[in-house]
Amino acid sequence: MAGGTDWLRELARWLPPGALRPFGRPVALFFHGVAPEIDDPRIQINQHDARAFRGIAKALKENFQVLPLVALNEALSHPEQHERSVFLMSDDGYANTLTVAADILEELELPWTLFASTHHIDTGAYNPMTLARIFFFYAPSGRYEIPNFAAPIELADELQRLILAGPSLARLKAMDAARANQSVAAMMAAFPDSERTALLARFASEKFLTWQDVRTLAKRGVEIGAHAHVHWPMHSAQSEEYLIEQARVPREKIIAAIGSCRAFAYPFGNVGDISPQAWQAVRDAGYDSAFTTLSGSLDASVNRWLLPRYGLGARDAHLGALLPLLRAGNSRLTRWQKRMAA
Ligand SMILES: [Zn+2]
Repeated sequence: MAGGTDWLRELARWLPPGALRPFGRPVALFFHGVAPEIDDPRIQINQHDARAFRGIAKALKENFQVLPLVALNEALSHPEQHERSVFLMSDDGYANTLTVAADILEELELPWTLFASTHHIDTGAYNPMTLARIFFFYAPSGRYEIPNFAAPIELADELQRLILAGPSLARLKAMDAARANQSVAAMMAAFPDSERTALLARFASEKFLTWQDVRTLAKRGVEIGAHAHVHWPMHSAQSEEYLIEQARVPREKIIAAIGSCRAFAYPFGNVGDISPQAWQAVRDAGYDSAFTTLSGSLDASVNRWLLPRYGLGARDAHLGALLPLLRAGNSRLTRWQKRMAA
């Protein structure tokens, strides 16, 4: 699990939220898409089921004060006055953030920020990691020579695919964007055209917003930030040129569409997905702040371009107790931020 927060979830089940309240500090939370229902969780790993999401949103409303991102500076300056402050965010830019999530959050009057990967808004191309998952779980059984993988990939029964997918997706994620593109294109070539089209339609939850949709969200009060141009890690396998472009391009595009773009969230966003050059490129591109997916509370940050965030689980039922516990990640967070500065 990203950020190693499983044990905190377990602990939160047993603690009364009231007792933890004084220990609370401002935190950022994120989700991805919200689908009316989940058909295959191996593929739709980034989607909340709408009913569960509504439950999470209600729990946030009841136990916390969800603030718009413009209040970030105030929360960072006076964290002790923000024991219950939460900043809610959504990553990637799935079309259902407009058709499903926006309605739920508007009804509960919860402000939120959308971080969009602009290449996918431009082209409608699915997240490369989603395409790779579709390959591992749906490609016809057989032996595939995929560029940039040392050995051929043999796909057989369901269990074998499940075992193979984890390490293979990790290998893919470690590649620079050009190599990863090559590999994913070869994976998609494993399908006859009609089958590929049918699978993409079946997993319509993975569709991205259009620019018109982004403008509609902005008009409805959603803050729009950048989630790089291409949804791929900004780690040390990427060239400095690539990193600068991934920071600059989405900001220009979002400003052109809606007039402002103040914040950034790193794709994947954990240790190993962000290089020191990446956060410097984000800072230099003119963003006020940027968010990772390391656990922690916002006040612990020594670098406002490497802020912590917690990824909401599929059914996070004990948020009242869990969020004050996110501080447990602070020492790891600040150690990492200091290493990234060196
Ligand atoms: Zn993402």
